[in-house]
Amino acid sequence: MEKSFDEFNASLLYCRKCGRAMPVRARLLLILPDGELYDYLCQGCGSSLGTKTESAPVQLSLIKPGSLGPRSGGN
Ligand SMILES: [Zn+2]
Repeated sequence: MEKSFDEFNASLLYCRKCGRAMPVRARLLLILPDGELYDYLCQGCGSSLGTKTESAPVQLSLIKPGSLGPRSGGN
């Protein structure tokens, strides 16, 4: 059973320019004391579709030794 690592990147936001829901790319705007402010850009036209504040990232303690195999394909 594989975990979906694409979950975060699979978010869609409606873009007025494109006229439909588009995949977005999160761009770090600001680092705040209690989190990070991200700007969400349409991957189609690059328009800013909104911002979101993410709480401070937690340590990646969920990664188990041995699960870090070579990435095939890459992104
Ligand atoms: Zn767009």
